Amino acid sequence: MKSDIVIIGGGAAGLLAAYGAVKALPSGSRARITILEKMPRPGRKILFTGKGRCNITNMKEWNDFSRHIRTNPNFVKPAFYNFTPENMIGFLESNGLETVIERGDRAFPYSHRASDVLDTIVEAVLRSGVTLLTEREVEDIKPGFEIRCTNGETYECSKLIIATGGLSYPMTGSTGDGYRWAGFFGHQVTPCFPSLTALVPKGYKVIEKVDEEMKGHIDRGTPMTGSGEALQGAKLKNVNLTVTYDGSVTETEFGDIDFTDGGIEGPIGFQVSRKCVKTMMNGGRVSFSLDLKPGVPITELTDRVKTIWNDIKNDPRTRQAKDGRGINGKEMYRILLGKLMPWDLIPGFQAWNPDILRTTVKKTARFHSPQRRFYDVDLELLAKTLKDWKFEIIGYVGYERCVITAGGVSSDEVTAKTMESKLQQGLYFCGEVLDMDCDTGGYNLQCAFSTGYLAGQSAAKALTPQG
Ligand SMILES: Cc1cc2nc3c(=O)[nH]c(=O)nc-3n(C[C@H](O)[C@H](O)[C@H](O)COP(=O)(O)OP(=O)(O)OC[C@H]3O[C@@H](n4cnc5c(N)ncnc54)[C@H](O)[C@@H]3O)c2cc1C
Repeated sequence: MKSDIVIIGGGAAGLLAAYGAVKALPSGSRARITILEKMPRPGRKILFTGKGRCNITNMKEWNDFSRHIRTNPNFVKPAFYNFTPENMIGFLESNGLETVIERGDRAFPYSHRASDVLDTIVEAVLRSGVTLLTEREVEDIKPGFEIRCTNGETYECSKLIIATGGLSYPMTGSTGDGYRWAGFFGHQVTPCFPSLTALVPKGYKVIEKVDEEMKGHIDRGTPMTGSGEALQGAKLKNVNLTVTYDGSVTETEFGDIDFTDGGIEGPIGFQVSRKCVKTMMNGGRVSFSLDLKPGVPITELTDRVKTIWNDIKNDPRTRQAKDGRGINGKEMYRILLGKLMPWDLIPGFQAWNPDILRTTVKKTARFHSPQRRFYDVDLELLAKTLKDWKFEIIGYVGYERCVITAGGVSSDEVTAKTMESKLQQGLYFCGEVLDMDCDTGGYNLQCAFSTGYLAGQSAAKALTPQG
């Protein structure tokens, strides 16, 4: 089958490439644009974005936006200005999707349903006359271009756009196929690694020994320890996370973290994950220190902990509880923790810091009476731990559940103003297949949309005029 432009991959970048191509064609053009998508439906990954809400883009101006691009922002700049976040929102709204801007300039569909974003994009692309073929897995490309699918179909085109994404969430169809073809056409592929991913503390998962071969990769499905289970589900707001790389270099991030079945993630967990993964892959060590009370100096916090403890001790309800026998130190400790941290963190905090509550077993004076347990809370150690809760990081969750793939087709050999290969005329790259990754906040999708739109537009402009 012949098509003027073939786009491999019907994800965020591929769909916008098709739309960009249509927009660049002169009116009345009969040029054919075909998307080949291997999955039964296009844009499957979009359904998972923003925890099902889809953080479509980020409305920051370029100077602020570009700070969130981790690799060579200058490469993305022409694509960004050619198709800005405002253009993306305009495209969605003109096709009937209402959007809303939330904290941090992040744009979401008003319905908070990622499926609405995907449906709007797909319907707009189909209405514009693009041929979207699903269950077409491309397995081979020959120069010229001749494209062969696993079902035996072949396609010929003069302009080919590779929009196959990276390696993250392979069940959405992104299995890194584009890297192979880039290599075939002589492109350098910067080594890939998972980013925006969960980091696994020592003692969180049941692991005898971290496999050196795997360079720190710990599958998300690895069973959790009891201590891991106790922490899982806790969400911490407004904490400081200080990261130590190889025992010295540190960075501190302020914000929110989540303990999940994978490990430590959430906004600031993700923020530091790129460097952590890279360090561990290179054989380096990573450790975390969590400050749950960043606004309070240690001396003030120690005093505050002691004051609350005395208040609990002297509270008449403490003495009257349990039929007038009073409550024991262990229960008082839980009450104290409840005044210092969210309730859902208490089991995990206790499991990870068992030394704060000291237990002594004593025989009572009375003959035949059972042994009694006495509890003593180390208030100084508690305050210290609240300010400096240490975790040794031994691994990270891999492509099976990371948000983005760092690395990819080197931007050195792709023209930033067109997305065309510098090595093979008529070949274009866009989206996550490129060596381009960003922070969370809508930046990754916008980069896929912008580079996709530009690749499609450039390919269409480069077609020889036809009837
Ligand atoms: C859980 C999760 C949440 C995320 N949340 C957000 C968010 O809220 N905001 C944000 O900005 N970013 C988010 N991202 C990142 C964002 O989804 C990606 O940056 C973006 O989807 C990349 O788009 P892409 O088109 O380059 O690649 P993909 O979306 O991966 O699309 C590639 C497409 O190519 C197809 N394909 C691959 N190989 C072949 C082949 N051989 N033949 C035919 N087709 C093929 C695949 O099936 C797939 O449909 C999230 C990512 C994940 C995993």
